[in-house]
Amino acid sequence: MYDIRDIRILILVDNQTVGGLEVEHGFAAWIETPDLRILFDTGQSDIVARNADRLHCDLGKADVCVLSHGHYDHTGGLPAVLNLNPRLQLYAHPDCLLERYSIHEGAGPKPVSMPAAARAALEHLPENQINWVLGWERIGPGLFLTGPIPREHPLEDTGGPFFLDREGTQKDWIRDDLALCIQTNKGLIVVTGCCHSGVINTLAFATRKSDEMPIVDTLLGGLHLKSADAARMQATIADLRARSIRQIVACHCTGIDAASQLREALGPAVTTGRSGLTYPSIPGT
Ligand SMILES: [Zn+2]
Ligand SMILES: [Zn+2]
Repeated sequence: MYDIRDIRILILVDNQTVGGLEVEHGFAAWIETPDLRILFDTGQSDIVARNADRLHCDLGKADVCVLSHGHYDHTGGLPAVLNLNPRLQLYAHPDCLLERYSIHEGAGPKPVSMPAAARAALEHLPENQINWVLGWERIGPGLFLTGPIPREHPLEDTGGPFFLDREGTQKDWIRDDLALCIQTNKGLIVVTGCCHSGVINTLAFATRKSDEMPIVDTLLGGLHLKSADAARMQATIADLRARSIRQIVACHCTGIDAASQLREALGPAVTTGRSGLTYPSIPGT
């Protein structure tokens, strides 16, 4: 278990920035523990490499790259990352390679799969650098990936009209969606990409699997609540409140309205993540 002061998370790519960095609809975070350097997601383009450079973060030193799921806005930067670091270990669920679409009413199917260049880069990696995550998995000391998260809460869904075919007949449950958990002396740090499994489901699974550590200190990442209805928002707020999470950093796809509802209900524990910000910030340190 780590002292929380020894963990550092730097947001490299987000829909918003503190300034001086490029923005895009996407997410990538740099995570350092005393044992491992992890790139969690890659954004949708090579912005990840340029932002990292500006933040003096050397992607060439990453030991591990985790893909939270296969959507383009989390995987498109993979070729740029592998260019800088051809030897890193990649962790993802195999469904990240599925062809998939987002189909909004009145609009045509929008492809949201992993871009072709990223898929090619992944498929060219030597087998011993690809780690398919099929379930809860330890990837280093005090460091775990959830693997597929059980969808138990009746009000939570994937957060969008996601399908596996252009015609919209096969629902995409985004089974590849996973979160990263770091065990610290203050509780878990849970990092999400889009949280398509739902916030309540994700935290329930993460804490159940870390049964000696039921406390969540920090929740950081995209929470994908922009299409959540009032009942789901209420349930999410009630769950987060009951967990007394010290720090909730709503990033990327959380939705501006949803983030302000969380802030209104839960107070200053909730902040908006932006590229260039570092976490977890501990009061008094
Ligand atoms: Zn997504
Ligand atoms: Zn996303």
